[in-house]
Amino acid sequence: MVRFDKVTKRFGDLVVLNALDLDIAPNERVAIIGPSGSGKSTLLRLLMTLETPNEGVIYVEGEPLNMMPRNGKLVPADERHIRRVRQRIGMVFQHFHLFPHMSALGNVIEAPIHVLGLSRQEAVARGEELLEMVGLVDKRDQRPSQLSGGQQQRVAIARSLAMRPDIMLFDEVTSALDPELVGEVLSTIRRIGEEHNITMLIVTHEMGFAKEFADRVCFFDEGKICEQGPAKELLTNPQNPRTQRFLQAVL
Ligand code: ATP
Ligand code: MG
Repeated sequence: MVRFDKVTKRFGDLVVLNALDLDIAPNERVAIIGPSGSGKSTLLRLLMTLETPNEGVIYVEGEPLNMMPRNGKLVPADERHIRRVRQRIGMVFQHFHLFPHMSALGNVIEAPIHVLGLSRQEAVARGEELLEMVGLVDKRDQRPSQLSGGQQQRVAIARSLAMRPDIMLFDEVTSALDPELVGEVLSTIRRIGEEHNITMLIVTHEMGFAKEFADRVCFFDEGKICEQGPAKELLTNPQNPRTQRFLQAVL
């Protein structure tokens, strides 16, 4: 489904990802953990084509997202493929980035109408279904400023799902929330996992959630995957001393 093949990403002299290899199977749920600055967000941004690798190739369904070397950088391959890939990947961020002047429903139907070309009626029907799924159908007419952080994040998740992605990327989506709002957002992600066949890559500090939800956990350190394995195994019985130290510090 997704393959990182010896992907290196540098910012100036700083090597953020160092010849990274990562293969993700369809419908797999992969949790990415690791210290601040270890390249977790950069990995997701590369997959979203918000960044371009310096070396290596990223494949989505066998097709490269980048390749031609130009000015020491590997620039995007085929614009049409990239647009297609972007459309099939949904990303949810720590800060929700909702459109402030639109209602919850307005946020959810905007892209389906303007990008997918759905009729307003179709988009509203689907939008209401998704708001129902994230438990917010009664808030459909509220603006983001009238919603709690957890509710805003759930609207952001519904908005992302409205584009019918095959791959969802979650970048510390609960880190900006008050502790009592974290649970509702994690339950929403769990529910998506139950109801949709979507490949998910989740950067998280919620180890309990990773253990129970993810198929595999990858521990990032210094631009590499330092250790990876089945979630329960890696989180309860890490083998690498660096993973052990990290888990001791966060648990
Ligand atoms: P955190 O847990 O704090 O979110 P992270 O693992 O997500 O960390 P990244 O955001 O991927 O880390 O950043 C990795 C490194 O790359 C950091 O040192 C960061 O300062 C640097 N970096 C990221 N984006 C840029 C950029 N556009 N320009 C320069 N440096 C950058
Ligand atoms: Mg990050």
